[in-house]
Amino acid sequence: MHLVMIGGSDAGISAALRARELDPGAEVTVVLEDAYPNFSICGIPYYVSGEVTHWRNLAHRTIGDLEAIGMRLRLDTTARRIDVPGRKLAISSADGGEEVLGYDKLVVGTGAVPVRPPIGGLAGPGALGPADGVHLLHSMGDTFAVVATLEQAAPGSAVIVGGGYIGLEMADALTVRGLAVTQMEQLPEVLPTVDAELGALVHAELAARGVEVLAGTTVQAISKAPPGGAGRLEVAATAADGSAVTRLADLVLVVVGVRPETTLAAEAGATLGVRGAIAVDPGMRTGLPDVFAAGDCVITHHRLLGVTYVPLGTTAHKQGRVAGENALGGDRQFAGSLGTQVVKIFDQAAARTGLRDHEARAAGFDPVTVGSGADDHKAYYPGSHRIAMRFTGDRATGRLLGVQLFGHRHAEIAKRIDIAATAIFHGMTVEAVSDLDLSYTPPLGSPWDAVQMGAQAWTRHTHPGRAT
Ligand SMILES: Cc1cc2nc3c(=O)[nH]c(=O)nc-3n(C[C@H](O)[C@H](O)[C@H](O)COP(=O)(O)OP(=O)(O)OC[C@H]3O[C@@H](n4cnc5c(N)ncnc54)[C@H](O)[C@@H]3O)c2cc1C
Repeated sequence: MHLVMIGGSDAGISAALRARELDPGAEVTVVLEDAYPNFSICGIPYYVSGEVTHWRNLAHRTIGDLEAIGMRLRLDTTARRIDVPGRKLAISSADGGEEVLGYDKLVVGTGAVPVRPPIGGLAGPGALGPADGVHLLHSMGDTFAVVATLEQAAPGSAVIVGGGYIGLEMADALTVRGLAVTQMEQLPEVLPTVDAELGALVHAELAARGVEVLAGTTVQAISKAPPGGAGRLEVAATAADGSAVTRLADLVLVVVGVRPETTLAAEAGATLGVRGAIAVDPGMRTGLPDVFAAGDCVITHHRLLGVTYVPLGTTAHKQGRVAGENALGGDRQFAGSLGTQVVKIFDQAAARTGLRDHEARAAGFDPVTVGSGADDHKAYYPGSHRIAMRFTGDRATGRLLGVQLFGHRHAEIAKRIDIAATAIFHGMTVEAVSDLDLSYTPPLGSPWDAVQMGAQAWTRHTHPGRAT
């Protein structure tokens, strides 16, 4: 049995690892375009900031580790064409050499590529790029280009286009590196994946750390600035009221999301679905014989929404594992995402799982969202932090649909959102969260954990007078 995985990141490597784990006799080849298999691209901001001291430390496993597990790695090799009936993959190496690999089963893990928004100066003849200090960020290659700009051009200032989680992590990272950062986000508030009430708290943390936050600001063009000014690049934007906004900077980072990389699979006849991602069943089957797909290149089965597109590393790992197992003849299913995510912004963290109010309404629920606050541990013990919470539940059934949290990075925001994710995964009601047997000691928690207090606040609001 020869399995071929296209893509050496979370999905492709997870599939390969699972296959080798289940069948140490399986022949497993991983084809990847670059030379960085199994790198944690989620860790890129912390290498850029300098907190991770060497790029090699971002590797989940080294090339030697992967080879010792029994994977054959084809580095710097691009998959060009899938011959589905012939079960063959045409590949080419960096030196232009071409070859055809036969396979029994194929896993496509081609991931995503950064969106290049329609901003003047980013495309067409004379487009600005890394040599000018204008960067996109997704791969290790992109990372090396950003670090080269930081080391060689010694920029004093940066504009970050995009206020999503990667933009925020990079605002943190570049500030730590000593740059003066301006963050531009076209939506009314940064971190638009959480409610504006929590986005405003993220905004305040950025501002407190010296980041100039321009929300409601749409970037129109990036161009070279005249020499002798305060920056070598000029970013022209429009504010929400229509007024012109201009900033000069030495580095511009454009991080406005990703789109699935599906060219190869689509050309082979795979069906595309939401946001142009490859349609797969929960077993990661594409519908093409012997071809599976996983990760950022595929649609996401969501436990509350059905089919959607939520490109996340945690999901890519799980889907890859399912694809690897099923490629060997297994019948595993991806259990579905809840879009659970967390981001650190300087000393604060924001997290969400499940649905926000408008998402729940669009999905046919009758949602009620209630904001509340609680301490992460008993306030009499030093170092307690307030956690801002937003609970969304279904009015009719009381079912917990979504939770959003914001608080200090040491307030266990990530693990508290995971309590909520677990509850939603198992279809619990908001009230039932209050019944969970959670741990307590004053320096670390409260008799009622913060998430239970958030649940109780929701119940008090929706059923005034009901004892909780
Ligand atoms: C800066 C940053 C921070 C992030 N932080 C988080 C986080 O904190 N939490 C989280 O859950 N997610 C995070 N993510 C998202 C997460 O990294 C992705 O969801 C995940 O890496 C997707 O894995 P993947 O294997 O599907 O695709 P990708 O990581 O996109 O990898 C695709 C692979 O396919 C290869 N490839 C593509 N086309 C071909 C071809 N034709 N031939 C050969 N090889 C090919 C590429 O070289 C690459 O190896 C972050 C992403 C970035 C960029």
